[in-house]
Amino acid sequence: MNPDPSVSLVETRSRAFYERAKAVIPGGVNSPVRAFRAVGGTPLYMERGEGCRLYDADQNEFIDFCNSWGPLITGHRHPAVLAALQDQMARALTFGTPCEQEVLLAEFLISNLKPLTPTIERVRFTSSGTEAVMSALRLARGFTGRAKVLKFDGSYHGHVDSLLVKAGSGLATAGAPDSAGVPPEYTDHTIVVPLDDDEALTAAFRKHGANLAAAIIEPVPANNGLLLQRREFLERIRSLCTEHGALLIFDEVISGFRVGFGGAAAHYKIAPDLVTYGKIIGGGMPVGAFAGRADVFAMLAPDGPVYQAGTLSGNPLAMAAGLAQLQLLTPALYAHLDRLCRLLADDFDALNCGWRMQRLHSIFWLYEGAEPPRRADAIRRESMQTYAKLHRHCLENGVYLAPSGYEVGFLSSPMDEAEIRRLFATLRAFFTT
Ligand code: PLP
Repeated sequence: MNPDPSVSLVETRSRAFYERAKAVIPGGVNSPVRAFRAVGGTPLYMERGEGCRLYDADQNEFIDFCNSWGPLITGHRHPAVLAALQDQMARALTFGTPCEQEVLLAEFLISNLKPLTPTIERVRFTSSGTEAVMSALRLARGFTGRAKVLKFDGSYHGHVDSLLVKAGSGLATAGAPDSAGVPPEYTDHTIVVPLDDDEALTAAFRKHGANLAAAIIEPVPANNGLLLQRREFLERIRSLCTEHGALLIFDEVISGFRVGFGGAAAHYKIAPDLVTYGKIIGGGMPVGAFAGRADVFAMLAPDGPVYQAGTLSGNPLAMAAGLAQLQLLTPALYAHLDRLCRLLADDFDALNCGWRMQRLHSIFWLYEGAEPPRRADAIRRESMQTYAKLHRHCLENGVYLAPSGYEVGFLSSPMDEAEIRRLFATLRAFFTT
């Protein structure tokens, strides 16, 4: 333990690791937001996790409200997940052949998800959310024989080339690449429309509907703030896809198993044709999946002509960890998380400090202003400077939040009111003194 966390952090070892990392890993990190550029300072090197607590290389202790960006809904090192991993480790780490664990996880998923969302009939596993999205898009294109894909400004779907786009200059136009290294031709088939804009959505379908393979959306947009959408807007996307013969893909890499077991599809009672999963589905191991209609999946290799593969896909360790965590996700667990998050948001909003908390189940996000933004361009950029200071204040008080004000926070089931009160007290001290 840092002897007096309210004064400052000890960062000796973290800083030393970061210096070494910068010499051999670009920017010192394996995923850009980890570099703390959005909040300043240098990243902390984590060493150990226990329940809802994180310990860094200098033995500072934090309550973890990032949870590895969402996967750890049951916290660090849940005994059931560890037991499943140990059991599997005693037998093998990987086979590259079919194995029982992938059948068990697939059966568990379909038997629990199909009653909630009837279109979830088949599932295939990948090793990341990005891969799941990339594969779902290819499958949609193969099934429909169409090239174009519609996405929303403010939704993130991993680093799939064709989806790394910023909104075009006019509404309903093809987007331009948002990253160097993506040729413009790769995004020519990507149509970008703003969230929460019925007119732009309708116009895009009117113009491109006949050529659209799919519309893809984070039904709970949680990568650029928490831009909760109106149910009618999501229903409108569903009906336009059906009308124009395009598939609807829900990217539930964050919302899947987080806003209830059935994710956003069950929450909003809207059945997408395909769904992508990641994060929670792997129990802390690298797993992604795409799932959906059996007739669409009939097109996937080896049954059909759409190729998709992975050396470590369906890896038995990852399957075992995923299944163990998913089996813990009871209605009581969701009720516990929901209650804690409601408590946090209600208390925070009652501060009347100019900032508010948007939340859905156990996802929360702090924003400046009176009304929760529903579009990417409604987020106040200036508020990010305040968030950077808040982030540091939280670290110094033993609270770990995501190192960017555009990122959401997550609760985990080992938390109780004590952890929520600690976060609230830390936020209150920052915003009211
Ligand atoms: N889709 C969504 C909604 C995500 O939030 C993410 C990652 O944060 C991805 C896709 C990509 O997943 P991964 O980072 O596992 O490739």
